[in-house]
Amino acid sequence: MQDKVRMREQKIQDYWQKNDTFQASVRNREGKKPYVFYEGPPTANGMPHAGHALGRTIKDFIARYKTMDGYQVKRKAGWDTHGLPVELEVEKQLKISGKEQIETYGVERFIEKCKESVFTYEREWKQFTEALGYWVDMKDPYITLDNSYIESVWYLLSHIHQEGLLYKGHRVVPYCPHCETSLSSHEVAQGYKDVSDLSATAKFLVEGTTDEYLLGWTTTPWTLPANVAIAVHPELTYVTVQQGSEKYIVAEGLANNLFKGDYQVVASRKGKDLEGMRYEAPFAYTQVNKGHQVVLADFVTDQSGTGLVHIAPAYGEDDYKVVKENGLDFVHVVDGKGRYTEEVTPLAGRFVKDCDVDIIKLLAERGRLFHKEKYTHSYPHCWRCDSPLLYYAMEGWFIRMTDLKDKMMENNQQVEWHPGHMQQGRFGKFLENMVDWNIGRNRYWGTPLNVWTCECGNEKAPGSIAQMRQEAVGSVPEDVELHKPFVDDIQLRCECGGVMKRTNEVIDVWFDSGSMPFAQYHYPFGDKQLFQSQYPADVVIEGVDQTRGWFYSLLAVSTLITGKAPYKRVLSLGHILDENGQKMSKSKGNALNPTDLMETYGADALRWALLSDSAPWNNKRFSERTVSQAKSKLVDTLSNVFSFYQLYQQIDFFDGEKDSGGVRSTMDDWILSRLHSVIRQVNDHLTQYDITNAARELGTFLDELSNWYVRRSRQRFWSNGMTEDKRAAFSTLYEVLKKTAQLLAPFTPYIAEDIYLQLTGSSVHLTDYPKSNAGLINAELEEDMTSVLQVVELTRAARNTAGIKTKQPLAGLYVLSGHPKGNGRLKQYFATIKEETNVKEIKLDSEGLFTYAVKLNFAVAGPRLGKRVGDAKQAVSQMEQSKVKELVDKGSITLGDLELTQADVTIEKVPSSQLQLAEGNGLGVLLDTELTKELKEEGFVREVIREVQTYRKELDLPVEKHVDLYVDASPSVVVVLKKYTSMLHAHLVLQDILFEKCEKAKSVEVEGEFLRIGVE
Ligand SMILES: [Zn+2]
Ligand SMILES: [Zn+2]
Repeated sequence: MQDKVRMREQKIQDYWQKNDTFQASVRNREGKKPYVFYEGPPTANGMPHAGHALGRTIKDFIARYKTMDGYQVKRKAGWDTHGLPVELEVEKQLKISGKEQIETYGVERFIEKCKESVFTYEREWKQFTEALGYWVDMKDPYITLDNSYIESVWYLLSHIHQEGLLYKGHRVVPYCPHCETSLSSHEVAQGYKDVSDLSATAKFLVEGTTDEYLLGWTTTPWTLPANVAIAVHPELTYVTVQQGSEKYIVAEGLANNLFKGDYQVVASRKGKDLEGMRYEAPFAYTQVNKGHQVVLADFVTDQSGTGLVHIAPAYGEDDYKVVKENGLDFVHVVDGKGRYTEEVTPLAGRFVKDCDVDIIKLLAERGRLFHKEKYTHSYPHCWRCDSPLLYYAMEGWFIRMTDLKDKMMENNQQVEWHPGHMQQGRFGKFLENMVDWNIGRNRYWGTPLNVWTCECGNEKAPGSIAQMRQEAVGSVPEDVELHKPFVDDIQLRCECGGVMKRTNEVIDVWFDSGSMPFAQYHYPFGDKQLFQSQYPADVVIEGVDQTRGWFYSLLAVSTLITGKAPYKRVLSLGHILDENGQKMSKSKGNALNPTDLMETYGADALRWALLSDSAPWNNKRFSERTVSQAKSKLVDTLSNVFSFYQLYQQIDFFDGEKDSGGVRSTMDDWILSRLHSVIRQVNDHLTQYDITNAARELGTFLDELSNWYVRRSRQRFWSNGMTEDKRAAFSTLYEVLKKTAQLLAPFTPYIAEDIYLQLTGSSVHLTDYPKSNAGLINAELEEDMTSVLQVVELTRAARNTAGIKTKQPLAGLYVLSGHPKGNGRLKQYFATIKEETNVKEIKLDSEGLFTYAVKLNFAVAGPRLGKRVGDAKQAVSQMEQSKVKELVDKGSITLGDLELTQADVTIEKVPSSQLQLAEGNGLGVLLDTELTKELKEEGFVREVIREVQTYRKELDLPVEKHVDLYVDASPSVVVVLKKYTSMLHAHLVLQDILFEKCEKAKSVEVEGEFLRIGVE
C-alpha cells in the first residue's frame, strides 16, 4: 500500500516535470489579476524540519487555490545565505573560533568557505520541496549573496542614508560575546530564556564616615567593578537606618523588607537631597576621576531592591544615559569576548557572567556585602549560539526606526492578520516598543555596509556599483564581488581631497531578507514593471517566530523606502509540537523528519494531516500517527472509491464525458446536493483563509461518499447492460469524483491529479476551482438523509450493546424520535434503513414499549425548592407514567402545589425486555433483539453468503462472473439453505446452486456447522 502511494506521487511528479505543469498553471493566467506571494527565504545550510513542512504546505496550498480561483500567482523561490549561522558553521568546520583566528586563517579564504557552506543542503531542500509538491520557481530564485541582490540592498541603504535615517551612534546595545557582535532588538526578542541568577546588595561607604553606607542593589553583580555612580529617585523618601554598629541609607518604603530584627530610623530626606553625596566603591580596580557619587534618575523605583541603583555606564542603557547627563567617567572592564580585562586582577580573563559568585565572595571578604539572593528571571540569549547576551556601550550603525514608529503602526493597521489578535497583540506590542535598528555587525559574511567615511567627517553611501566605481580611487575590477574583503580594498575620493574608507561592518541579515520585495527583482536596476506588478504582496506566510524577524524587517524596509506596508495579509503559523506538547528539537530526539514521513505515507497524507488537524495558527501536537491516520482517512478512502469506479467503468466501457444522463435516484440527488453544499462551504471558508474547516467539510463529504453513497449504490453497478439507473449512478459518481479531485487539488495535489488525469486526461491544476450550483442543492433532502444516517448509527450502537452481529436479521426497530421535522419524513427511507440495519420492520409508534424512571435532581431542585425538597422527592417517586410523559412533552408539570420543570428531575427510559435502547443527539431508537427460529436461520444463511463472497475474492474471480455454487453440508443445513435460495441468488452472482461435493472446495465453519463450499 505504502509503495502504491509512493509510486503514484513519483508518477505525478514525472508528469508535472514532463508537461511543465507548474509553469503552465502560471502562464494559464497571463493577463489575469495577480495574487502576489512572497517567499520567505530559508537558509540551506541546515536540514528542513517539520515546521518547514507546515510552512511550505500552507504556502503551496494558498498559491494553488488562488491559481485555480482565477489569479496569476508567481512564485519566485529565495535563499537566505548570509550571516552568523553560516560563519559559526564554518568556524566549527575549520575548528577555529573567534575573530582573531578568522583573521589569522584569512578573510578571503574564510568567505570562500562560507559561500560553499551556504548550499550544503541545497539538494535535500530541493528534493524535500519537490516531494512535498510545493510549487515554487527554484530555477530562478533570488539569492541574497548575489551581486545583483546586494546592489539592490545598497540602493535601499543609500536611500535611507540620504534621508538622514542611517547614523553612527555610541549606544548600549545587546552583544553576543561568543559571536563578538552586537544584535538588533528584534534578534534579542527571539532568545529570551528563564535563568536563575544572583542579585547582590553592596555597601558603598559614604565619604567622610566609617560606618555609614549607601545600599546599592544590582541584578548583575559582575558589573560592580565598573561602578561609576549610585542613582536615587529625586522624589522618593530615603531614610538612614541604624542597626547594630552600622548605618544604612535606603528608600523608606523598602526598609521593612531589608532589615530583619530591630532597627532605628535616625534620619530621613528626599532623594534629591542626596545628590552629589560621594562614596567609596566596594572595588577599586579602575581609576574613576569623575564619579562615585549619588545621581538622580527617574527610572529608580521603590518596588524592589533598596531604592538605590548601582550604575555601570558601559553595561546598561539607563546607566549610560544617566552617566552622560551628569558628565561622569566611563569605565569598561570587559573585553570583546566577554572576559574581564587585566585591571580586574583576581578575575582577569574569565567570562563575566560566570563570575557573579566570585564577585559576591570578594564583596564579602571586603565587608561590603549586605545581602545576596538567588532569583529567576527572563534573560536574553543569542538566538544563534545560545550564549547569554551582555549589554555593551559601543559604536554602531543605526536606522532611526523610532522616527517611523507612527507610520509603522499605521501601516500595520492596514494589514489583515491571521490570527487577528497578532495585529494589536504580539506584533502591535512589538512595534510600540520599537527602538532604532542596530544594523551593523562586526563580522565577515554578509552584505557589506555601503558607507564610506572620511577623517573630515564626510560620509558617502553609494547606491549602485556604478556610483561606487565613479567615485573610487583608482579602478574597480569589472567583476568586483560585493563582499569582504574585496570591497574593503575600494576607497572613495572625498571632496576635501582626502580618501574615504569603508566602514568595517556587514549588515544584519534581517535587512537582507526584509529587502526581498525590491531586491528579488534587482530593483531599481531590473524590470521595474515586474516589480510594480508584484508589490505589495497579497500574502506572506511564515511561523509566528517571524514576528520579530521577517514580518518586522519586511515592514520596516518597505516603510523606509515607500512609506507603505509590503503585504496586505500575513498568515502567522504556530509551532509544531510533539505528542506531549513539547517543542520538537534534534537534541531532545523528538523531532519528526518530514522526508521520512513522506517516504512512508506520502506527501498527500503529510499535507492533509497538517491542513486538517487544527488551525495553522495554533501550535500543533503532531506525531507520525496523525500522518498515518490522514493517509487511511483521506488518501486510502478516496483511492478505494476511485478504484471502485474504475473497476466498473472498465467493465461497462462507461465514458464520463459522453455517457452522462440517466434517471437519477434519491441517492444520486442527495450526493450531488451534498457535493454542491460542500463546494459552497469550502469556497466560503477559503475566502476567509479558514483552511481547517474547509478540509473538515471535505473529509466529512468523502466519508459520506464512500461509506454511504458508494456502499448503498454498489448493486446498481452490478446489473447487466446499461440501464438508465446504472447510467445515472455512473455519471453521478463520475461527476462527484471529478469535482472532488478539483476541490482537493490544493490540499492533496498528487491523488487529485492522478484521479483527474485518469478521468479526463488533463491536469486538475489547470482547471478552475469548482463553484457551487444552487439548483442542485436540496436542503430538505440533506436534512432527511442526515436523520436516516443518525437512525442507522444509533441502531448499530444498540446492536453493539446487545452483542448482536449486523448479519443477524432482527424483527423490528422503533424510532422514538429521528427527524427534527417529524418522524413521518423518514417513511420514504424505510427500505434503506431496513437494509442498513438488517431489520424486518420499522415502527414509529413506541406506545407501551418502555416506561420512564424518574428521580429528583437534587443539585438543581434542592437550591430552588429549599425546605420543600422533601415533598418534591415524595411526589416525584409517586408520579404516574402519564404524568412523566406530560412532563417530557410540556417541559413542566404541577404536582399538588409544586411546580416542577424537566431540569428538576432526571428521566430515563426503561425499555421492556428484548428491547435495546440507544439515544444520542436528541434522537432515540429501540431495537427488538428477540431471536426467533426464522431469524436465526436467516442469520445463518447470511453468514454463509459472507463466506462465499470471501472465497470468491480469494479466488480472484471477476466480480461480474456468474458461477455455480457447490455446497456440501449436513442435511439440516441443506434444508435451511434450500429455503433461502432466492436470497443466495440475490447476493451472489450465481448460475446455479448445487448441493453436492465439488473437487476444489473450502471448508468453513458457520455457527458451529461445518460446510464445504466450492465455486466453479
Ligand atoms: Zn552568539
Ligand atoms: Zn573628507
